Amino acid sequence: MKVKGKSRRHRAGKLGILCFGLVLATAVAVSGYWAYQEGEIAEKQQQTDKIIKQANARLAAIEAKKKEPVYITLPGAEKFQVPAENYEEPNNIWTLVSKARAIGVEYVPSELVTPSVSSHPGTVASEKKVRKIIDEPLTQLFAAAQKEGHSLMIGSAYRSAAYQEQLFATYVSRVGYEQADKYSAHPGFSEHQTGLAVDLSTTSQQCYLSECFIGTADGQWLAENAYKFGFNLRYPKGKEAITGYNFEPWHYRYVGVALATALHESGLTLDEAWPYMETALQTLRSNRAVQ
Ligand SMILES: [Zn+2]
Repeated sequence: MKVKGKSRRHRAGKLGILCFGLVLATAVAVSGYWAYQEGEIAEKQQQTDKIIKQANARLAAIEAKKKEPVYITLPGAEKFQVPAENYEEPNNIWTLVSKARAIGVEYVPSELVTPSVSSHPGTVASEKKVRKIIDEPLTQLFAAAQKEGHSLMIGSAYRSAAYQEQLFATYVSRVGYEQADKYSAHPGFSEHQTGLAVDLSTTSQQCYLSECFIGTADGQWLAENAYKFGFNLRYPKGKEAITGYNFEPWHYRYVGVALATALHESGLTLDEAWPYMETALQTLRSNRAVQ
């Protein structure tokens, strides 16, 4: 009986060890499994973090490309930055209106205002108006001129396509089509329709709307200084074949200081600068299209 009892205890002890072994093995297996799982999860998390980081970097690069400044360098001029707006839009201050490039008879600029500076007393009210954006630069130009003894006035500013049509017909009846075509725009082709062009004169009306205006101190001062206020002498001497117009030392077009300065430094007309501007516009477009 003693032996029997001892043997039973012995068996129970063995069973206990076995159970303990099993529990231990299971615990080791389970903790190993979880450790493995955690490792997997951590690795997947790392991969996900990496993908998110790469995607964010790519998005940041795209955003940077879209906002990347684009410059234009005209021959002989300092480079200048292209504004973000689309300058092919008719309302843009860089828009090109020329003998070959119409703004369209339907176009009417927004925000036409009567400028703060003086106009020729004989100019009709509608023809005194300008785009609001040039009111301040005009005031500054006139004030700077005044400081140096030049008293300016506007001879003619905004013209509607209908008014331009009347003018052109009048000129044709006076001097014939061929002559009229050299100094007057066809309706829909006049810069005056943009509200950004002004015919300037001095209050004395010396050489009013005549080529001899460039020989006056006032005309000379304008030719040398108007660009500093964003105005471009649009139809210069020697560029008649390019602009399609006779030399008009009184006709100034607002294009903003950056472009007016570059045009002044390079000696190019807006027509000649246009291909450089179009290239820059293409760059802007392709930068914005980056995906
Ligand atoms: Zn003009």
